[in-house]
Amino acid sequence: MQLIDGKKVSDEIKQELAKEVEMLKNAGKKIPHLAAVLVGNDGPSETYVNNKVKACEQTGFVSTLLRFDETITEKFLLEQVERLNTDKDIDGFIVQLPLPPQINEHKVIEAIDPRKDVDGFHPVNIGRTVIGMPAYISATPAGIMELVRRYKIETSGKHCVVVGRSNIVGRPMSILMSLKNYPGDATVTVCHSRTHNMKEIVMRADIIIAAIGRPGFITGDMVKDGAVVIDVGTTRVKSDQTKSGFRLRGDVYFESVAPKCSFITPVPGGVGPMTIVSLLMNTLKAAKKEIYF
Ligand code: NAP
Repeated sequence: MQLIDGKKVSDEIKQELAKEVEMLKNAGKKIPHLAAVLVGNDGPSETYVNNKVKACEQTGFVSTLLRFDETITEKFLLEQVERLNTDKDIDGFIVQLPLPPQINEHKVIEAIDPRKDVDGFHPVNIGRTVIGMPAYISATPAGIMELVRRYKIETSGKHCVVVGRSNIVGRPMSILMSLKNYPGDATVTVCHSRTHNMKEIVMRADIIIAAIGRPGFITGDMVKDGAVVIDVGTTRVKSDQTKSGFRLRGDVYFESVAPKCSFITPVPGGVGPMTIVSLLMNTLKAAKKEIYF
């Protein structure tokens, strides 16, 4: 069994990005600039945005954080989005979700210029992904694809079972793994809360991607020998063994599944650390106009 070390890979990518920024600087070119919009004081959102800003600093990217009160109107936020769309200095930006209830998230996402949508949530980027055109791929699926690439995991002709069909993880993963590409070219099955015979389906998987948010859901008796297991789940559970009083648990029951796998991602330290570097990779692509030119 080989552990897929997302922390190590994400640190390597940060170093690669920092080098690339240095080269752009030396060549007198524009430094990638990421802006983040944060509405309200939601604790986890604040942590995510701060981590994104910190990652920008570590790699030499320019970052701008726009903070707004949770009482702002939808119209006001749409005006800010338009301002960012037309700001020539900003290469890409994200609007941290969730938004307060008076604001329609779909409307806000659709208002973002797809060329600056480095979160890859805009329907244009999702549509381009589906037909295999260059697109910004959302950070978590892009991070998983990068791990598969860097660990040279074979995907062609493999049976990939994706458990979960959310717009930000499960669905894009199922599309990416079925594209005529590497990683991809897999035969994909998508499972969700209405799936019957889940155990039998997961048992037939060469590659399992679990993204449901149910700690320890995938157990050893559901996994065939030699399978590749990617655990996206991150649920905070109570723990008396940590200072904070909680720990993160994945969707995979690691102790029983790991001995059967060829590759497995741990939680924490697997998929999680890749998410932010994927956002930076998208921002670099935006600055270099690699997707839309
Ligand atoms: P989500 O929007 O809540 O979607 C969960 C999906 O799992 C849904 O499609 C749901 O089915 C399915 N599901 C729930 N219970 C199930 C069950 N018992 N059997 C089969 N399918 C079930 O979640 P998400 O945003 O995709 O996130 C999933 C997990 O990944 C969470 O733990 C989240 O914290 C984590 N996550 C981690 C990262 C990272 O960077 N590491 C990023 C994003 C998410 P239905 O569609 O039928 O309701």
